[in-house]
Amino acid sequence: MDYKELSELIFPNIKDVSYYEEKYPKRDLKEGAMVVRFAPSPTGFVHIGGIFTSVICSKLAKQTDGVFILRIEDTDQKREVENGVTGIIDALKKFNLEPDEGMIDENTSHGAYGPYKQSQRKEIYQAFAKKLIAEKKAYPCFCKQEDLDAMREKQESAKIRPGYYGAWATCRNLGLDEIEKKIKNGEEYIIRFKSPGNPEKKIKHHDVIKGNIDFPENDQDIVIIKSDGLPTYHFAHVVDDYLMRTTHVIRGDEWLSSLPVHIQLFEAVGVKPPKYAHIAPIMKEEDGAKRKLSKRKDPEAAVEYYAKEGIPSDAAKEYLLNIANSNFEQWRRQNKTASIDDFELQLGKMSVSGALFDMVKLLDISKSVISRYSKEEVYDYAITYANEYDEDLKKLLEEDKEYTLKVLGIERGNEKPRKDIAKWSDLKDNIEYMYDNRFLNSDIEYAYQNINDKEEIKNIIKDYLENFFDISDDKQTWFDKIKDLAEKHGYAREVKEYKANPEGFKGHVGDVSTVIRIALTGRANTPDMYEIMQVLGRTSVVSRLNKAMS
Ligand code: GLU
Repeated sequence: MDYKELSELIFPNIKDVSYYEEKYPKRDLKEGAMVVRFAPSPTGFVHIGGIFTSVICSKLAKQTDGVFILRIEDTDQKREVENGVTGIIDALKKFNLEPDEGMIDENTSHGAYGPYKQSQRKEIYQAFAKKLIAEKKAYPCFCKQEDLDAMREKQESAKIRPGYYGAWATCRNLGLDEIEKKIKNGEEYIIRFKSPGNPEKKIKHHDVIKGNIDFPENDQDIVIIKSDGLPTYHFAHVVDDYLMRTTHVIRGDEWLSSLPVHIQLFEAVGVKPPKYAHIAPIMKEEDGAKRKLSKRKDPEAAVEYYAKEGIPSDAAKEYLLNIANSNFEQWRRQNKTASIDDFELQLGKMSVSGALFDMVKLLDISKSVISRYSKEEVYDYAITYANEYDEDLKKLLEEDKEYTLKVLGIERGNEKPRKDIAKWSDLKDNIEYMYDNRFLNSDIEYAYQNINDKEEIKNIIKDYLENFFDISDDKQTWFDKIKDLAEKHGYAREVKEYKANPEGFKGHVGDVSTVIRIALTGRANTPDMYEIMQVLGRTSVVSRLNKAMS
């Protein structure tokens, strides 16, 4: 028997790799087009880091007229959960990160380079394993778990580098006859790669993000096909990224140390490896130390968190672009209303070490993102959120849609739109006071500020209602009248005036308008009071000011 025959014995009905190379030809794309993929395992948890990778992949594919692939890596079937693939697809959809090719539900793919789920590609990996066996670059290993454990123990106690390599790789040197006998005897085996590496030598690698790195060559005879016939990650990655014609492998930097194995495998298969870009994970600060954002400890690590809180996916995406490229922030300052699609992301500008997750910054970005939405967009997003998470908000929004749109339109669509909403879960509290059926029927705690003498407050409100309030006034007239009111009661018309002569006044116009604002809304901070009055209308303003006086 020769090695070719051995490969036939092990994989009798498996096609030649040339079949797949023809089936998945080089892509006909323009120069510079990037073919990238997000390749998660369907473990039931979508980490925000996966969205981070996808934002980067999707952006680069769009920018270069390339292809963004969703590939499901389910070769470790022990870790799989039910509907894990659907969970990933839904998460990408929520963030508008729909892949050009890949899985579209648990078992179906679209795209010419599929299937895109590794468990459906078994014969493809086996074709490549078969080729390696025929070329003496891989071999069956019959070692049992006990043998491997005993070997490891020996290595540990002798303080020798652990693993299956060199003289320790016992099955590497089995004769063909012996192999044939064992297989025909029905002995169980796996397939190992016969590493040609020498750790005394170095490989030079250029990572698109991390730069130039030297690694010692790998000499471990890693497993490529497991006893269930499925490949290990290392082998699947090589075969898939070759046949899917991936140009850039963008993945977490926990894979950086596996690179020497991957490069070797590409060489063994006889093809040029893609470019690699290893992304640093998103970090979190705890007790002064940095650690990875953790699935167990940090709620914001899970994508559901964003939906539940009502943080718009546009905001999360924009925040992630901020982390990705530090020049994004400046670009946003110069292009306040532009779509993020107009920003040019550069892999080479990604940070080498992990960025810290900053919730304050994310919410700040979210406020800006929401401020750019029209009132109709706010309404639609808020209703979608409310449908799922807040029955009462839904009621509030739907009771009188026309009115709600007016409320949402306050200080929106202008040069400097309101920036007081960071997430949909804040919206109810943010607008509830605008609804008479809630406001007039509730106990308001009027927390008046600089002016807190009850009589004085009452006098101001009463006088305002009787002599200064007219709903048909334009904004300037309205404001002049508040100034007149202030002056009449002994307050300066202008803050400046008061500051120059604090003894001469009881306070200033701001103190007086605060009284009216609190009486009207129960709050010291609101959007523009003139607009609020216009939306409320005359009857409501009168009822509210009367309520405050009583
Ligand atoms: N399935 C691997 C993971 O989830 C993919 C790494 C890669 O993108 O190649 O970490």
